[in-house]
Amino acid sequence: MKIYNYNDLSKSKIEELCSRQIEDDKLVAERVAEIINTVKAQGDKAIFKYAKDFDKVDLHNLFLGAEELKAIASTIPADAKKAIDTAYKNIKTFHQSQLKTEDKVETMPGVICWREHRAIEKVGLYIPGGTAVLPSTFLMLATPAIIAGCKEIVVCSPPQSDGKTNCYLAYCAVLLGVQKIYLIGGAQAVAAMAFGTETVPQVYKIFGPGNRYVTTAKTMVQNKVAIDMPAGPSEVLVIADETAVPAFVASDLLAQAEHGVDSQAVLVSTSQSVINETLKEIEIQLNDLSRKDIAKKAIENSYAILVDNLNAAMDFSNEYAPEHLILATENFEQLIPQIYNAGSVFLGNLTPESVGDYASGTNHTLPTSGFAKAYSGVSTDAFLKKITFQHLSATGLKNIGETVEVLAEAEGLHAHKNAITIRLKKM
Ligand code: NAD
Repeated sequence: MKIYNYNDLSKSKIEELCSRQIEDDKLVAERVAEIINTVKAQGDKAIFKYAKDFDKVDLHNLFLGAEELKAIASTIPADAKKAIDTAYKNIKTFHQSQLKTEDKVETMPGVICWREHRAIEKVGLYIPGGTAVLPSTFLMLATPAIIAGCKEIVVCSPPQSDGKTNCYLAYCAVLLGVQKIYLIGGAQAVAAMAFGTETVPQVYKIFGPGNRYVTTAKTMVQNKVAIDMPAGPSEVLVIADETAVPAFVASDLLAQAEHGVDSQAVLVSTSQSVINETLKEIEIQLNDLSRKDIAKKAIENSYAILVDNLNAAMDFSNEYAPEHLILATENFEQLIPQIYNAGSVFLGNLTPESVGDYASGTNHTLPTSGFAKAYSGVSTDAFLKKITFQHLSATGLKNIGETVEVLAEAEGLHAHKNAITIRLKKM
């Protein structure tokens, strides 16, 4: 891990440190475009073929139904079932609290405006399952979709080597009341949900993380469907003052690093000794990790910055716009108003990022690669549209009429003006 002194960094060096490695892989783009076109042209037939090519399974059916899911779910170990139940309860409680109705507003006497939310009727959820199956992502996407009231929730996840899904995803499906899991992975899953096939229903918005094939496909189908957000490798930025516990900070940096070799773990500290001790702790803790090789590479690509004070730390963090921000500082509450760009924030020495990944209640599908400057993470809102309404009484029409007539005249749109005039004359 390289160490920098913030005072020595030029503007262009800061920009370089904040830019993420976005692979511009032409081969992946070409492959994904071909997969999308083939699924569009051949539907289910193409999906069976890709399952054989990429997932090495001969599928007889493209989905598991409720009965099969129930049978697989029954094999879940008791401790995993309990943990999923607890995480689900917290995620549900938090996302339920986001459903709010808005007040009607009288903008001028007799002119009433308001907004009502409606669920996106058909949504597609992608649950990664190539190297590891992720029940946590299933909970994070399906729970707000159900709370929002989405009528059709299509869930795709790659088939496992036995041509099925594992007990954790199956249990989530039973818990959530999801009746089917489509055994489709990669770009073909995204294409199937965007365009529909004989078996897979077409949806209006696609959610979920995934590998390069999945995320490239999501960006390519955007002229047909909405997507949750652009995605890149996961990242964390930890701001640590002299009260931070190096062993805790190291564990958080490594938790991020084990995601993938391209994950970024950034430490910004006011204390040289916290930086030194954290680097020592990383070496110690690395040895015990099953994904040691991945984490080691990610840590090699990451860096630490020594700053004079927490204001400088906040400036850098806002420029970096991390997916996950940890404030391992004594007075974290004072720093909250200074946070402008971050996906999700973890406050104090006892709040590791992994609680948000799994169970605190907040969503773990978050903007990466600096997109936290403009995007929010997934929430119940992401599954809703806001429709505006307005109603005019006779007084309202009289009050607003002249304003609209004059503006319509100025724009040369006489039919617009007449829609007011014709009504005013009748009154
Ligand atoms: P995945 O489900 O994303 O991809 C597996 C699919 O990729 C396979 O089913 C196959 O169809 C396709 N594929 C594999 N090799 C291919 C090839 N050569 N050509 C075309 N298609 C091919 O599972 P994964 O690979 O394990 O990746 C999961 C990703 O999701 C990881 O990168 C992980 O970091 C990311 N993730 C991100 C978040 C987040 O919130 N940011 C959360 C969870 C997971």
